[in-house]
Amino acid sequence: MIHDLIQAIEDQKDSLVKLILDLVSINSLLGNEDHAQNFIEEQFRSRSLAIDRFGINHDELKKYPGYSPSIGDWENHENIVGIFKPEKPKGRSLILNGHIDVVPVGDERLWTNPPFEPTIKDGHLYGRGSGDMKAGIAAFIVAFDSFKKIGLEPAADIFLQSVVEEECTGNGALACLQRGYKAQAAIIPEPFNETIMSAQVGVLWLNMEVFGKPSHVLNANHGTNAIEGAFVLWQHLKSLCEDWNNKKNRPAAFSNSEDPIKFNLGIIEGGEWASSLATRCQMNLRIGFFPGIHTEDVIKSIEKNITQTIQNNPELSDLKVNLLYGGFQSQGCLVDLESDFVKTLSKCHTSITNAEPDFFASAATTDARTFNLYGDTPATCYGPKARNIHGIDECVSINSVIKISQVIAVFIAEWCLFNRLSK
Ligand SMILES: [Zn+2]
Repeated sequence: MIHDLIQAIEDQKDSLVKLILDLVSINSLLGNEDHAQNFIEEQFRSRSLAIDRFGINHDELKKYPGYSPSIGDWENHENIVGIFKPEKPKGRSLILNGHIDVVPVGDERLWTNPPFEPTIKDGHLYGRGSGDMKAGIAAFIVAFDSFKKIGLEPAADIFLQSVVEEECTGNGALACLQRGYKAQAAIIPEPFNETIMSAQVGVLWLNMEVFGKPSHVLNANHGTNAIEGAFVLWQHLKSLCEDWNNKKNRPAAFSNSEDPIKFNLGIIEGGEWASSLATRCQMNLRIGFFPGIHTEDVIKSIEKNITQTIQNNPELSDLKVNLLYGGFQSQGCLVDLESDFVKTLSKCHTSITNAEPDFFASAATTDARTFNLYGDTPATCYGPKARNIHGIDECVSINSVIKISQVIAVFIAEWCLFNRLSK
């Protein structure tokens, strides 16, 4: 039977690739997920799944732990859940989750091909969102399909989720939870190179707005340039990042990772005139931190670092700093590697690849935290090999997606069990 499932996915290779191509060709940047979600809804409907489509109610969601302050409000910004209920349930329930939102493409001139016109070359499918994570969504849809192809159906509830806002708040996945979606396990096929995620860092976003003391450039000694001041603050924040990476401060899961804590200066804007000292500079920062640390404590550390830098550097005494928090306020989490869930997934990985899985402590956050920390649903990430995610010429290995789809299918068989379809 397992062999038949694996073969069924091999036989569906073309439709799997087509599904990824279709998904990548639909631009689903933040606030623009609607068309891609329409496509997903059609896909779910054509598989006779019950459809639940819903937006994020911020007033309600705010009351939940794990909520991150929104960075915008969009119309038609909805999650889709495809619900499968078996005729004769006997196995354990499962959530298959993926995010439909993709990150900005950067400067398009750097791409070999336009980011939303997917291409295939040397066994890789290129385009924004190919790896992160439309291939993962396609992989679990095709894994689900493989049962019907061989006359079976899974024997437990399965919820196929396509969510928004994974890349900025995680409020999409949290909204699923708030709506009542829990299960005995959740797999998120993020492009983590066929590893099983063992832990993930926490992430905080903040906007550091810095005001200087304006002056004509000829009186520069009497003024403070907001851009230069902001850079001094940033340099000191980076030394805080080095401290946090210190091996003695780490949870065991990260003991062998190379600098898992990253502070990133993602956006900078400021200044008004080439011959005037800049009066204002804004830096949008992403701060990583280890599991077990609360975001409130991270905020305190950041604020303390900035205050101390200003106190210790008299030339910065005129700077005014305003910290604005929007986007991720997301704690890290650890995955229980001894759980039956992870052991079953490991076994399924080995059955397809003939190798033990590697475990991966992620220096990025994912929606897995929401399930693990607040949803009473053990979750991990397990997805295909990809390159340049969040970068230029992002691509995913087609062979790897097929493998992931096969592992997920075998996992469904083991976890949810299955029944023969009545004719
Ligand atoms: Zn992702």
